[in-house]
Amino acid sequence: MPTIFSHPAVPLAMGLGLGRQIIPPPLLATGIFLAILPDLDMALMRLGGIAYADNFGHRGFSHSFVFALVIALLVGKWATRWQSSFRVVFWFLFVSLVSHGILDCFTNGGHGIGLLWPFSDERFFAPWQPIEVAPLRLARFFSMRGVEVLTSELIWVWFPALLVGLGLRRWQRPTGQGL
Ligand SMILES: [Zn+2]
Repeated sequence: MPTIFSHPAVPLAMGLGLGRQIIPPPLLATGIFLAILPDLDMALMRLGGIAYADNFGHRGFSHSFVFALVIALLVGKWATRWQSSFRVVFWFLFVSLVSHGILDCFTNGGHGIGLLWPFSDERFFAPWQPIEVAPLRLARFFSMRGVEVLTSELIWVWFPALLVGLGLRRWQRPTGQGL
């Protein structure tokens, strides 16, 4: 996985690009939380004694399109309190969630991603994996390995996300007017 610090790059880019009128701060915060949520499967794995490669292990069901769809629908209903359009809320939350598994596909280690659960047990990787995989153990993170991981995330996650956010912003406000 990219680290939990970098998955929020996707909702943040959408928030930057679309502005607070469309993505109000509480909705943005919800998107950030949902972008991290799939990795809580590690707690499930450790507490439940579930194997990494199991469908309910790390990078399994919680990283799938179906999980993203169900959670975005459920949380979306509740999140309409901040944005009257369910369509906007749903797509924002769905993209925030689904981006997690897709970004993980671009990492160069660990198991593949169970994107198609429950229809397939196959674990997927992208054909090109430029993002250094984050160590699962915290102690390894606070080492040179952690610096390498964060540097690769800056280049391959944050920089493209910033470009997308600025592109969306430009598309939203072609005249360059502020908020
Ligand atoms: Zn993950």
